[in-house]
Amino acid sequence: MILEREREAVARYGRRLLEAGLTTGAGGNLSVACRQEDRVAISPSGMPYGEIGPEDVPVLDGKGRIVEGRRRPSTEWHFHLALYRARPEVGAVVHTHSTYATTFACLEREIPPVHYLIGFAGRRVPVAPYATFGTEDLARCVVAAMEPEVNAVLLAHHGVVAVGADLAAAFTVAESVEFVARIGFQAEAIGSPRPLPADEMERVRRKFRDYGRPPPGGGI
Ligand SMILES: [Zn+2]
Repeated sequence: MILEREREAVARYGRRLLEAGLTTGAGGNLSVACRQEDRVAISPSGMPYGEIGPEDVPVLDGKGRIVEGRRRPSTEWHFHLALYRARPEVGAVVHTHSTYATTFACLEREIPPVHYLIGFAGRRVPVAPYATFGTEDLARCVVAAMEPEVNAVLLAHHGVVAVGADLAAAFTVAESVEFVARIGFQAEAIGSPRPLPADEMERVRRKFRDYGRPPPGGGI
C-alpha cells in the first residue's frame, strides 16, 4: 500500500475530529500531502469517520486523479489540491463544519480576536465568499481568502478550512478556531468583549509560528 503512513494519519485524525466534537458522522474532510511524490491522501467521500481504515483513504495525484484506493475522494478535493499548489509549506488540510465557527461563517463575519488562541490561525480568520460545495469555484474562493501566513478561513454559509505543516498542526488550528468562535459567541451573549489589539495579535502570531518547531541546533 502506497502512502501507508499518510493514509493511517487521515483515518486517525478523522476519528479525532469526531472525538473533539469538530464534526459529526461523515461531515468535513481532511488530507495529507506527500510532496516528494506529488501525491495527496484524502478522506473518502460520505464514509463515517469511525469506520475509515487506511485502505479506505484514496491517494490522488496532483491533478486529482485516483492513484490508489477503491473509494471516491471527498467532494472537496478541489480546494485541498488548490491549497497545496498555492502554499508550498502546507502539508495538511482540515475542513470542518464545527458549529460555532460555522455560525460566524453563516453571518459572513470574522471571528473576533477575543482570545489569544486565535493566533494559531494567524492574525485573523478571513471569510471566503460563498460558492457551491465541491466546485472549482469554491477552491478559487478558498485560495484567494487564505492570505500568506493565515492558516484558516471561514467559508461563508459553509464551514472552516485550516492548514498546517502536518495534520497535528492543521488539527490544532481547526480546534483553536472553533474554541475562540465559541468563546466569542458566549462573550457577546453576556457582554461586549474587547478584541485584542492588532499589535498584540501580531506578537502572538509570531510566537505561535515557532510553536512545535524543534529548538535551533536540536536539544532534548
Ligand atoms: Zn464542507
